[in-house]
Amino acid sequence: MIGTRDIGRRSFLGGTAAAGLVALHPFSARAAGNQVHLRLMETTDLHVHVFPYDYYADRPSDTVGLARTASIVDGIRAEATNSLLVDNGDFLQGNPMGDYIAYERGMKEGDVHPVIAAMNALGFDASTLGNHEFNYGLDFLMKSVAGADFPIVCANVATETGANPRADKTLLKPYVILERTLTDGAGRAHPIRIGLVGFVPPQIMNWDRKHLEGKVEARDIVRTAEAYVPEMREAGADIVIALSHSGIGPAAYTEGMENASVPLARVDGIDALMTGHSHLVFPGEKYADFEGLDAEAGTIHGKPAVMGGFWGSHLGVIDLMLEVSDSGEWQVATTLSEARPIYERGEGRSKIPLVESDAAILDSAREAHEETLAYVRRSVGRTDAPLHSYFALVADDPSVQIVSQAQLWYIGQMMRGTEWEGLPILSAAAPFKAGGRGGPEYYTDVPKGDVAIKNVADLYLYPNTVRAVEITGAQLKDWLERSAGMFNRITPGEADQPLLNPSFPSYNFDVIDGVTYEIDLSQPSKFDTQGELIDAEANRIADLRFEGRPVDPEARFVVATNNYRASGGGSFPGAMGDTVIFEGPDTNRDVIVRYIVEQGTISPGADNNWRFKAMPGTSVLFETGPRASEHLADVDSLAIEEAGEGPEGFSRYRITL
Ligand code: MN
Ligand code: MG
Repeated sequence: MIGTRDIGRRSFLGGTAAAGLVALHPFSARAAGNQVHLRLMETTDLHVHVFPYDYYADRPSDTVGLARTASIVDGIRAEATNSLLVDNGDFLQGNPMGDYIAYERGMKEGDVHPVIAAMNALGFDASTLGNHEFNYGLDFLMKSVAGADFPIVCANVATETGANPRADKTLLKPYVILERTLTDGAGRAHPIRIGLVGFVPPQIMNWDRKHLEGKVEARDIVRTAEAYVPEMREAGADIVIALSHSGIGPAAYTEGMENASVPLARVDGIDALMTGHSHLVFPGEKYADFEGLDAEAGTIHGKPAVMGGFWGSHLGVIDLMLEVSDSGEWQVATTLSEARPIYERGEGRSKIPLVESDAAILDSAREAHEETLAYVRRSVGRTDAPLHSYFALVADDPSVQIVSQAQLWYIGQMMRGTEWEGLPILSAAAPFKAGGRGGPEYYTDVPKGDVAIKNVADLYLYPNTVRAVEITGAQLKDWLERSAGMFNRITPGEADQPLLNPSFPSYNFDVIDGVTYEIDLSQPSKFDTQGELIDAEANRIADLRFEGRPVDPEARFVVATNNYRASGGGSFPGAMGDTVIFEGPDTNRDVIVRYIVEQGTISPGADNNWRFKAMPGTSVLFETGPRASEHLADVDSLAIEEAGEGPEGFSRYRITL
């Protein structure tokens, strides 16, 4: 809301700001009689993070939460004569509180979604929609939107399309023009009309096809802006701010582009851009080499822009020094952009909070928070096999299999209606928690029976997002050759040779489901631990088959994986960034939760699609966690036995090959 607020009601931790002592921003301090300092504040990609809490890990977190960002908002409002607070979308989905409301509590007519309740409490002036607002369907979205005390705009999603965007019947208002009164440097009041228009990536039509097909259409961001911004000016907007739930990406325009904020900045009549979607910070170093930007000043094609991180990590701030003529014409004179964090990095991995939580914001969502805690701790589905990773490096394994199955299920849906529909879909997954430097307790271990949300974090440690790549049969084989670097070369006929290469991280041991293969340990590794080719003639992967027939090196496959792998993480052949055909907005973890919730009971029994090639008279040793002994009987593809104590609390096992 515009206007002065009670200054210093809440203060920065350890700061000197107190009632009446807040230093005014230079724009407010030096504004002349015809000048107005207007401060625009942005949150983006909140993903239901109100409390500073990591629900997957079930512990507090200092890096997230609108309750923390809210404390910055207060300070920043206090520094400026006039301010406006907007959210840039992706507020409804993305943590267990969002899933709890959508899957368990539901939204009845008249319910206020907890993240909306928190946004109401903080006094947002407007918001737009992000792509994730569509994840739970239109009915859920519309009931959530109805609870907002502020307008929510989106120009490029239409329930009925016309000959051009202006002729569309849009799902929500395409834009809003807020009538406000701003105070100039001499204390005089000036009426102003501030136009806010919202955009979402049109890719929602693929990502949420099952919810949206036949119900809405999404239009190109830039073309929609070119249609609506002039209309807003005609309707009297003195300044226009784009709420672009779209990343800062390529400078060149392509139709339907996902990250369109740079070409969007070229649209005449837009004065400032709030951006998001990429979960990054602008201005900031990450954008140093991008065309069309000034990553230090925070401008795109000379226009002020900001991206406020994600999950409440930052508040994006754009300061506008506006000049108003005697006849009431407004012009942007000077601008500044910054992203203010809620925490800073301390020594090692520590994070130091820069603000306290705002008690009123916590209170606004406290009930849902308590209910979410109960939700993550109780079962949301069942598994009819135990999910553990004690033998994940030596045999096909249920804790990896479940990840593969969920990815397959999801990518299968995403490929429908695309040019890749009909290609075989494989799935690559690796054990993340498999001892090593994490120690003998560092294994996934979810017993047969109830599965809780907390367990999903145990199954999938990293907040990766889903990707699909298209590769050839030859690349598939090399991908597996790269994985097989996990093992030392084994001499046939010798006993008790160490199996695992200790410098090879388990997260680079991809198992690919959907094909069958053997690993011939007598052969040298084709790649070193960094992924460098060291022996072009080496062949550890043997008898690689798809649907029972040898894989043709020219055959084409889709492989479901994650953003780390698909963009070159681990240097895997076929996964160097140039084979990506699908970039999902969803985290692998979310996909696993959805899969479990939708299936009810999961059957992640390992299908033994890979095994070591038999080597008569040869045995190897490896170490795993001591609790592996409880699960020895689960492994039916290997001759495996206990072989005493290993170092540092690990247990030793012997495999007869
Ligand atoms: Mn997001
Ligand atoms: Mg398998």
